[in-house]
Amino acid sequence: MTVPFSKREQLLILNLSELLPFSLSLSDEALILTKGVMRGEIPIESLLLELQQDFTSIQQMHFSKNKNGQILLMIGPKSALDKEALESTLREIISLELPNNLKNSATKKPLIFIPADFFGFPLVGSLYFGVIDRGTNLLQVRPITGCPLNCPFCSVDEGPASKSKVRDFIVDPDYLISTYNYILSEKKLNGAEAHIDGQGEPMSYPYLVELVQRLWENNNTAVVSLQTDGWFLNEQIIDELSAVKLSRINLSINAFDSKLAKRLAGRGDYNLEKMLELAEYILDSNISLLLAPIWIPEINDSDIELLIKFFSKKKRKNSSYPLFGIQNYEIYSEGRHVKGVKQKDFKLFYKQLRELESRYRVQDLVLTPKIFGMYKTKLLPIPMKRNEIIKAKIVLPGRLQNEVLATARRRLIHVRQVSPPSIGKKIKIRITRNRHNLFFGVPA
Ligand code: SF4
Repeated sequence: MTVPFSKREQLLILNLSELLPFSLSLSDEALILTKGVMRGEIPIESLLLELQQDFTSIQQMHFSKNKNGQILLMIGPKSALDKEALESTLREIISLELPNNLKNSATKKPLIFIPADFFGFPLVGSLYFGVIDRGTNLLQVRPITGCPLNCPFCSVDEGPASKSKVRDFIVDPDYLISTYNYILSEKKLNGAEAHIDGQGEPMSYPYLVELVQRLWENNNTAVVSLQTDGWFLNEQIIDELSAVKLSRINLSINAFDSKLAKRLAGRGDYNLEKMLELAEYILDSNISLLLAPIWIPEINDSDIELLIKFFSKKKRKNSSYPLFGIQNYEIYSEGRHVKGVKQKDFKLFYKQLRELESRYRVQDLVLTPKIFGMYKTKLLPIPMKRNEIIKAKIVLPGRLQNEVLATARRRLIHVRQVSPPSIGKKIKIRITRNRHNLFFGVPA
């Protein structure tokens, strides 16, 4: 609802661009809020109606833009309104409305925002988000799902072209931090590596710098590292991550030829030259660089050698870790595969890495957990056994068609073969998999 007005001096002017932690724009019908890949639209009509319900003295409301492009909300009469109360109600309406209207602009899929303490227990149990403890001092911190690339070998079928993934998730940084702190204290860990990764590209998380900074606030954090395909890298974000003391970036560059790099990224606009420049920029920063290409037999054999040749000659400011973390191409039933390419036997893979070590006089192509300071620890308690029948509550739709996320015994469970996803409903399920506190089930 837009109400015309004539006397500007009788109106209270709220600068929404300064008030809200998003980039704002207006369409004819909606206020558009963006932060990184997170994009939400709030219908203007419902926003104004909600405001009017709380402030019945409002007679005029109008959105406008100032000369700097900032979005203003002009409300009148000024004399009857309390600016602070209006601002706080606006913030509240937006924080309640926005999560229902989010999209991941990198994948074009709906994005579900998980607010802090949404489930009432630490974020454990899901592969999609939260913190994963695999019984070592390394904890995987997963803030967001979805990826802008469409790699033809993607083991989790991610990207805008994904056939299986229908939605994405993003988690409030407070929830990740409280879960991380809880796990460290439960495991009595005092040399933890917080490894930020995900089903998709973790650098699409708009609160990444804040997350790194806050992971360090736990005195038992020894390393904070990040997995990335590099799509969202630029010099500025590298500087910001270096300023908050990110220890290491594991960067996947899979080719040394620009045509092949585009093919392996599944995007014609993938810029290998820029990616190589950014990798060199990291080498020159305080962050350690670990190049982590996937070695796909007969597809990028010579590229792997060229990457080793090119990077092993470069100077590194921080060499706390090996420079290469070459990975064997693996085939997963739920992932994508490169047509006609078979997975290489791991014995052969390691033998070939050793040959490359001596051919190019580089160390540590064959990696061990010890090189990364990894060691075994006790696991968090596992409250459900395989084949156990339990009662669970459906809390969210899943990432796949006919999948829901359910909760039971303070854990999240992926339940397949459920349709429709009746949120709040209690169902009986049989646990089909429970490795490392990651739970999967089907209706019993
Ligand atoms: S392999 Fe990694 S970078 Fe490529 S589509 Fe999958 S998640 Fe994205």
